[in-house]
Amino acid sequence: MNKKAFNPFEMAQRQLDDAAAVLQLDPAVHELLRWPLRELHVTLPVKMDDGTTRIFHGFRVQYNDARGPNKGGIRFHSGETVDLVRALAAWMTWKCAVVDIPLGGGKGGIICDPKSLSAGELERLSRAYIRQVGRILGLEKDVPAPDVYTTPQIMAWMMDEYAFMQGYNEYGMITGKPLALGGSAGRGDATARGGMYCLREAAKALNLELKGATAAIQGYGNAGSFAHKLGVELFGLKVVAVSDSRGGIYNPDGLDFAKVSAHKAKTGSVIDFPGSKCISNEDLLELDVTVLIPAALENAINEDNADRVRARIIVELANGPTTPEADQILHDKGSYVIPDFLCNAGGVTVSYFEMVQNAYDYYWEECVVHERLEKKMTSAFWAVHNAAQQHRVHNRLGAYLVAVNRVAEAVRLRGWA
Ligand code: GLU
Repeated sequence: MNKKAFNPFEMAQRQLDDAAAVLQLDPAVHELLRWPLRELHVTLPVKMDDGTTRIFHGFRVQYNDARGPNKGGIRFHSGETVDLVRALAAWMTWKCAVVDIPLGGGKGGIICDPKSLSAGELERLSRAYIRQVGRILGLEKDVPAPDVYTTPQIMAWMMDEYAFMQGYNEYGMITGKPLALGGSAGRGDATARGGMYCLREAAKALNLELKGATAAIQGYGNAGSFAHKLGVELFGLKVVAVSDSRGGIYNPDGLDFAKVSAHKAKTGSVIDFPGSKCISNEDLLELDVTVLIPAALENAINEDNADRVRARIIVELANGPTTPEADQILHDKGSYVIPDFLCNAGGVTVSYFEMVQNAYDYYWEECVVHERLEKKMTSAFWAVHNAAQQHRVHNRLGAYLVAVNRVAEAVRLRGWA
């Protein structure tokens, strides 16, 4: 599957098909789980700062709510397509099931280049999205959150717009909110932290020392930058390369988190960080490191480059970074992949904690969030690891076996198929 032919939704369906075959899933349950239950396509007129009106397009896909309300982020990206949002909504369904939280899967997106929009334009775009999509959202129906290029501030605007539509405040309709508006302690770094707990368990399974182990991180948004911070803080990883959409930096002696993030805050990118060599996003994936952390976008590791990936453990903080062809190549080579919807489930797990706290309007201390997150991630990790070992399949298929089984059970018990 080369880059041109890449269709993320077909990829998600193929992954499910492989799991259905191993599970000998009932054909009707299988067919139901291959498709989103419903989706909304919206057109959004937005007043721009120069007085003109621009028309944007967006989506919300509700993939499957057999186990609970749909849950999943909203992305602002110029490359957004409905098939991408469908795939991401499917992965959210498996993600919530694999960590065993009572939520289904959804995803939203707006086709836009957020970097070219002013704060006022972003606010008006966010509110316009909720005016159209708000009718299918709600804490009992579908609960969005941040994702690629969306932030706690954007969640706050969306929550506020929804409050105007309803006529009352409903914090639990969206997560990843600022702390001052019903956010949860520990939500900021939750995706990376959950991935780090998985990495710790994977290192145990492989009998591998993490202290001083080299790591490379593709992507320096919320997940990638916190992975840098926590990887150093928790395990003493030596992060030798990081990148963002503009390129990467490499220093064999290790990159300092505080200095790199200050440089990015000042210049808008990690590139040109003093004392480092520049490196492309492609080359970063092929570095001779122990730990590789794809934390950017889908389709980073595919059949074109998988055989050149040298890392021992791949910590998938991005959604969909590895194609099915690459999965097989990596498995045959003996790389240990911590699959995306397990590895990055820390974000939605703390989102779920946020919904719970909003529901009883009583807020937990950060240490409580960390402890509960650690428990969820650790037991999900071993459920997946053991399923993969037992069925002699790669870890992604192991994760699918655990997750699909749980969703299929809910579908059957409801009498849907
Ligand atoms: N966007 C994140 C994800 O892909 C978080 C979703 C959520 O918190 O609902 O997992």
